[in-house]
Amino acid sequence: TEEKSLNFIEQIIEEDLRNGKHGGRVLTRFPPEPNGYLHIGHAKSICLNFGVAQKYGGGTNLRFDDTNPVTEDTEYVDSIKNDVQWLGFQWVNEFYASDYFDSLYEYALLLIRKGLAYVDESTSEQMAAQKGTPTEPGTNSPYRDRTPEENEALFVRMKNGEFAEGTRTLRAKIDMAAPNMIMRDPVIYRIKFAHHHRTGDKWCIYPMYDFAHGQSDSIEKITHSICTLEFIPHRDLYDWCIEKLEIFPSKQYEFARLNLTYTVMSKRKLLQLVNEQHVTGWDDPRMPTISGLRRRGYTPESIREFCDRIGVARRDNLIDVSLLEFCIREHLNKVAERRMVVLDPLKVIITNFPEGQVEICHSENNPEDPNGGIREIPFGREIYVERDDFMEVAPKKYFRLAPGQMVRLKSAYIIKCDDFVKDEAGNVTELHCSYIENSKSGSDTSGINVKGTLHWVSVNEALPIEIREYDRLFSVEDLSTAEGDFKDHINPNSLQIITGYAEPALKEAVVGTKFQFMRKGYFCLDTDSTADHLVFNRTVGLKDTWGK
Ligand code: ATP
Ligand code: MG
Ligand code: MG
Repeated sequence: TEEKSLNFIEQIIEEDLRNGKHGGRVLTRFPPEPNGYLHIGHAKSICLNFGVAQKYGGGTNLRFDDTNPVTEDTEYVDSIKNDVQWLGFQWVNEFYASDYFDSLYEYALLLIRKGLAYVDESTSEQMAAQKGTPTEPGTNSPYRDRTPEENEALFVRMKNGEFAEGTRTLRAKIDMAAPNMIMRDPVIYRIKFAHHHRTGDKWCIYPMYDFAHGQSDSIEKITHSICTLEFIPHRDLYDWCIEKLEIFPSKQYEFARLNLTYTVMSKRKLLQLVNEQHVTGWDDPRMPTISGLRRRGYTPESIREFCDRIGVARRDNLIDVSLLEFCIREHLNKVAERRMVVLDPLKVIITNFPEGQVEICHSENNPEDPNGGIREIPFGREIYVERDDFMEVAPKKYFRLAPGQMVRLKSAYIIKCDDFVKDEAGNVTELHCSYIENSKSGSDTSGINVKGTLHWVSVNEALPIEIREYDRLFSVEDLSTAEGDFKDHINPNSLQIITGYAEPALKEAVVGTKFQFMRKGYFCLDTDSTADHLVFNRTVGLKDTWGK
């Protein structure tokens, strides 16, 4: 039965271990290109790569796949390292594909000398025409039959900067009739006079992804190179390079990438949202980036749990983002301290409570955590409750405030609604209630049973806080099939800012701390907060109300 619960990658690894492949060694890698911040899709890859290695006593390399000098930056390198560690994983080695540029260059020379690569002067249009179609073979480049000596001399000149960008490439000499179009003499090196974030101006030729990735895996002796499904057609070339170069035989395995409803997941699109200021940055709490989720109040545990629940499939699918929200709600329910915050205040005067008197109530911080402790909450003659906790004409089973009805104020007294005040427009502006003196929570001898318990705050001590309520960043479920540009589907109401009134204990909150605002949801203190202006992000509501 245990066998059944293994995902297909684990099955492959167990099979390899049984056969003594690689001497029982498991080494995976996580290979981000440092051209953006990591997103929840990367988290799936991280959990898989680090997870299986951990499970089988192996390790994982963090390898920056930095072979494209134009889009990469050290800011991204730093954020990626931070995010992987925050998720709870530690790599064995930190490597950079650019550190292998010398080796890759030598590998290219090796292919040339074996007659397996040639310098081509075709333009990119000519090369595209030579490729043929999936049903028709391609045609050979006129430069395909140069001798190894000619090719080596030309390739060295390419490296020395003697040729302009776009005028020469190095191509693998494979088969222009190969059924797999990628095998029709793919370009493996191109000229690019670009500054690289690590190698500076040392190189003006750069290897293509397909001539860097497998070789990097092989140099590091990666045993299981796990990537997403779109790399299936690249596997033939991956294997061909390793075979012809006679280097360590790493193997590539493909799994389905994560797609989420109401979410775009490509770094290119996320960068566009940032650059065009649809969001405030990569860590905007509406972004599906790890840094955005962190700022929003997500915990590493909840993200790992999510990755665990979605599993590892071999077919593309679309995961409901409410599963991610379910996972954070579950975790925060266990760990978040409770606080009372009124988001839409209605003033209540406790008419039989002495003016100016403050009474201290006690409340447990977390009913789910016996060691969560107790805090003090001031109670007074004037309090706020939620506007929608009162109805002038209440239906049956409305157990909140209505004329003549009683409720318990959480951790304080039972009160009875005696009267209400309206303004000229007919809006209720104030309730007049009386409290039952011997009904205090913890020492209640009143014998009165009430069905409703409300959260509340004392008006005098209430702390105004800014609350940022988020909704989905996009208003269509499946962005991959949505018409037009993805930005046409941005939800214009993804952020709502309101002022809430909090119990004074919230003053002590530090950035990142997570709370349950009772009956309202989970919130965390945002980095925009200052000592006298606290800003809270709503991480997620208490219940799944989406679509209801
Ligand atoms: P993007 O399209 O967002 O730029 P990418 O694949 O180009 O993604 P990389 O930095 O190359 O980004 O990705 C690093 C690793 O993360 C790769 O192994 C890639 O397969 C994996 N990865 C990226 N996106 C997802 C996803 N949505 N689900 C699962 N794995 C992913
Ligand atoms: Mg990539
Ligand atoms: Mg990409």
